[in-house]
Amino acid sequence: MDKCGNQAPGPFRPLTQSAKNLNQADFKRLNFIQYTLIHISNMNTESKLSLLSEGARYDISCACGDKKLDKRVRAGDGHWLYPVSLPNGGQSIIFKVLMTNACENDCGYCPFRSDSNVLRCSLSPEEVVVSFFRYARRVKLAGIFVSSGMVGSPDRTMERILDVGRVLRKRHGYRGYIHLKVIPGASDAAIAEAVSLANAVSINLEAPGEHRFAQICGSKNYLEDVIRPLKTLNRLLSAIPRGPLRPNTTTQFVVGASDETDLELIRYMSGLYSRMGLHRVYFSAYQRGLGRLGIPGEQCGDTHSDKLIIREHRLYQTDFLMRKYSFAHDEIPLTPAGNLRLDKDPKEAWAEANPDFFPVDLNTASREELLRVPGLGPTSVSKILRARRLHKIASLEDIGIKGALLAKAARHVIPSNNPLTVTVPFQLELFPPKAERVRRANGRI
Ligand code: SF4
Repeated sequence: MDKCGNQAPGPFRPLTQSAKNLNQADFKRLNFIQYTLIHISNMNTESKLSLLSEGARYDISCACGDKKLDKRVRAGDGHWLYPVSLPNGGQSIIFKVLMTNACENDCGYCPFRSDSNVLRCSLSPEEVVVSFFRYARRVKLAGIFVSSGMVGSPDRTMERILDVGRVLRKRHGYRGYIHLKVIPGASDAAIAEAVSLANAVSINLEAPGEHRFAQICGSKNYLEDVIRPLKTLNRLLSAIPRGPLRPNTTTQFVVGASDETDLELIRYMSGLYSRMGLHRVYFSAYQRGLGRLGIPGEQCGDTHSDKLIIREHRLYQTDFLMRKYSFAHDEIPLTPAGNLRLDKDPKEAWAEANPDFFPVDLNTASREELLRVPGLGPTSVSKILRARRLHKIASLEDIGIKGALLAKAARHVIPSNNPLTVTVPFQLELFPPKAERVRRANGRI
């Protein structure tokens, strides 16, 4: 018994199929209902929250930073809270929870699939809201991320997720960040309401294309359950002007659960940004041992998981090259098998494959050219552009680049003390940047 008088959940014993004379689908459904009922009735909110906030870590398609697992924190009672990137570039903590880990789908990579023998429970919308406010009083929270396994039908599940948004927005007047998950197969009306309530909405693609999706999930129809809702989201969002009222959309791929190559993932990612208007694509390395034995991700050798973590990191680097460095998807260097190199970051691999592009002149190169230099990112390139308006840049150290980044970049650039440098005539800007205007006004230049 727990302190509220509830009986502790006992071990779940699956039904034996021979005793039932059921077909496979009915058998799975009965098993599912059995453990859902047993555990929902036996657990209090605290124990359910503990189980479900831990379960939410498998879904990373909220605006978390790339080092999400390094930055998550435990609240005072031991529950995990997760980092989130804020629109102003800073980071904060988000309350992330599954409403239930019971699910009627059979995604082969997911520990909560219908035939998986795990402890199940559900939180009501009210329990989620009350818990969220309780945590918000203890820890400074940026918002809430709500996801769920599918119970009953996609729209019945959406109804419970939407209830959390309704109660927060309408009953409590909450104006902070809400991220709602769209359940695969949800109707257009449910998606429209999620868009009206949330700051961010996501639907997970999981695999690049119908064929790859079929390798890991038999119960969902890729085109109807995943692509149709994604298109609906895109249509609804394109009718909202850009700005704070327009929710972000994100998706997630499970890397290495099917036989997909990086080339397939990169092509899909490019299409999602250019044609579907997605804000972010997330990658989650498949964790071997969680899924069904028959899926490709479970068939690989022992080093598979370590390699997948590096692969996930390389895919994030590629994502940055495409979103922030103006790389086209077909410029990303790949191995003959269609994968990113694990031993080198993709920008360095591009530099190695394009020696004729270098060296780049620090004093005359365009922003796009400077962004191709290994070791230079958008911040350091902006510094170079600002600095060279005022004087010739003699070296990368001039603008504060040092250490490993300096070592990477130095061999790809020509500083001004090099005889190859073309000197740009110095001219005062008609409309100088604000900081410079202030210095001029103060008579310092
Ligand atoms: S829909 Fe698939 S991924 Fe989501 S909880 Fe159910 S089995 Fe897991």
